[in-house]
Amino acid sequence: MVNGYGNLKHEIVDPDLCTLCGACESACPVNAIGITADRNHHLFDCSENFDSCSICHEVCPHTSPNLEEAFKEFSSAPYSLPGIGHFTSIKTARSNFEDIRHITRSGGVAAALSVCGTETGMVDAAVSSEAKNLDDMPTPLKFKIPMVTDYLPSMLKVEFHPAAVAKAYDSVVKGYAQARVAFIGLPCHMTALRKLQLFGHKSSEQLGFLISRFCLWNPQSRRNFSSLLSAKGIQLDAVDEINLDDSIKVKSDINVHDIPLSELWGNIREGCKTCMDFTGAFSDISVGRVEGISRDWSILIVRTKQGEELVNRAEREGYLESANLPHAVEEEIQAIAGRKKALAKQEVYEVKRGILAPSAFEIMERCIP
Ligand code: SF4
Ligand code: SF4
Repeated sequence: MVNGYGNLKHEIVDPDLCTLCGACESACPVNAIGITADRNHHLFDCSENFDSCSICHEVCPHTSPNLEEAFKEFSSAPYSLPGIGHFTSIKTARSNFEDIRHITRSGGVAAALSVCGTETGMVDAAVSSEAKNLDDMPTPLKFKIPMVTDYLPSMLKVEFHPAAVAKAYDSVVKGYAQARVAFIGLPCHMTALRKLQLFGHKSSEQLGFLISRFCLWNPQSRRNFSSLLSAKGIQLDAVDEINLDDSIKVKSDINVHDIPLSELWGNIREGCKTCMDFTGAFSDISVGRVEGISRDWSILIVRTKQGEELVNRAEREGYLESANLPHAVEEEIQAIAGRKKALAKQEVYEVKRGILAPSAFEIMERCIP
């Protein structure tokens, strides 16, 4: 088999580089792909019916097709910084609602933007994912149609472990006809949805704002990751920040714990080890925290015109307040992004591991300098 799934299998699925985003599953016109808790399954040999179909291979965030084209949209943004990519503005922000801030402990920025988007009619719905327990891999999806303020507390402590989010987005679009949908997820989800958009997939016509969380990596198993943390006296639920220095720095409450990278690396998903996008370079808006940001605040990176419209409206109508980003924090984002990228390169070029580099790697390297 030399067409779509054959290439996807060879490049991504067999070398264990799939991060279970669900883009291939949602794009497949004959439902030949199924994502389960830990695997990407080819349910039947689609090549017999569609010998020229390549959509599953094209929309995967870890393959090269359409990636450079998708990134062109961002290159007109006035600024670009190593590790951050292109953007129009970067600042700190927090929700103006104290209850949201209290629950999120990180400013509730993505939540405030989603509420602003739905309440002002800029979008009809927002899609996010939520883990209910440690066995939830991939993370079950939580739909908000429409998302109203009353529902917010249930979505605020969200986990963005690998989740078939692209499929969830697609289900929302199919289930709710004309709804324009905002989407909150991880950098690889942003890339997948941009590629669906470039492919001209029907569901992408209803794509509203893409809001990305910062993402260092995701674990193979949440349960093992939680055990590793609790052996160090850290409760997964209490983790506020994870930063990358020479070691991993996990901040919970007022304590910062150092974990050697070597202890964590075996627990990281293979596809994440070669991922070099820390902030979500393909999003409209990126939100995240690094060391140096006060509790209750997040970093807000605006990348597109429509992202700017949403943020401006949220500020104007009192959903969000913002402040200048301290230069030291900007440097810290770049430093972490640089370290993530360096580790990804090392992983790709580590010939002895015999891992096939994801074909997106070299293009990503140009997109996120
Ligand atoms: S990363 Fe996403 S698109 Fe790529 S193979 Fe896995 S589920 Fe499919
Ligand atoms: S590290 Fe990259 S591939 Fe892994 S979950 Fe995060 S954004 Fe996705």
